[in-house]
Amino acid sequence: STPMLANIAGGKGISIGLLVKASEVFHALSEVDTVVFDKTGTLTHGRPTVMDAVPFGVDRLELLALAGAVEASSEHPLAQAISFYAQREGAASRIVGDFRSTPGKGVTATVDGMEVVAGRPSFLEERGARLPDEVRAEVDRLAAEGRTVVLVAGGGEVVGLIGLQDQPRHTAGSLITKLRQRGIRTVMLTGDSLAVAEAIGRRLGVDDIRAELLPPDKVAAIEALQREGRKVAMVGDGVNDAPALAQADVGIAVGAGTDVAIESAGVILIGDHLEDVLHALTLGKASYRTLT
Ligand code: ADP
Ligand code: MG
Repeated sequence: STPMLANIAGGKGISIGLLVKASEVFHALSEVDTVVFDKTGTLTHGRPTVMDAVPFGVDRLELLALAGAVEASSEHPLAQAISFYAQREGAASRIVGDFRSTPGKGVTATVDGMEVVAGRPSFLEERGARLPDEVRAEVDRLAAEGRTVVLVAGGGEVVGLIGLQDQPRHTAGSLITKLRQRGIRTVMLTGDSLAVAEAIGRRLGVDDIRAELLPPDKVAAIEALQREGRKVAMVGDGVNDAPALAQADVGIAVGAGTDVAIESAGVILIGDHLEDVLHALTLGKASYRTLT
């Protein structure tokens, strides 16, 4: 069926824009009782900035050179923030080869011939790096402050960690409140650590916070909600979210998202306004009532 463009003037003269791909989607929207959100890039801006760079056994600039080099080819918002910061701080550029990205975990590459890994702590361990207690303590300390932590290893040794901060979108809290007022349950799914997820999720008033998930875990979480009889809308932006968007009863891609996310979604928030989630649900109810 043909995509429909719903462009509605909001109550205060605010123009919203959302694309509903097929008429069946209106029905699914009208039944939604649970809205699942990705964290990074969805509830938050997805534009993290580097707040801390803590080297272990190397110079700070060496840590930044290695981190900047291994992240240079990654499209992940964390990677872009790290590369930008490394350049800004004047870290030397390096010869990078054999770049590989593991969604939801991290990246690897050779930098001047040495294997470099950047990502979540468990990813470094999977790649054979040992995490000394002082490193773990520093990871926990930054995570408790709400920082997303990226660990960096070179040649199998941890060389440091980078702490990043991403701000919630300013409409996220009021959206969550309005969803609750409509009796809709809200869930946040993230690959980030539990400490960071709770720091942000509690502030926004999310009912159910689930962290440290890999992309397949996000799909499984949605399946579990559906088995409980819930009708699930999933809101996401990233390439990692495509399978979850496809699994949900309705996938809602936030505007600036990747092509893959947009392909997997039934609704696209073209204007990149998170509060249009509410308008999509309202539209579903209204249209379905009119159509039947
Ligand atoms: P979210 O679910 O919040 O969108 P992701 O699933 O994209 O997060 O990533 C989960 C975690 O994996 C990040 O918090 C980070 O620790 C790690 N990670 C993913 N991609 C990268 C990358 N390019 N560089 C470093 N770490 C990464
Ligand atoms: Mg994301």
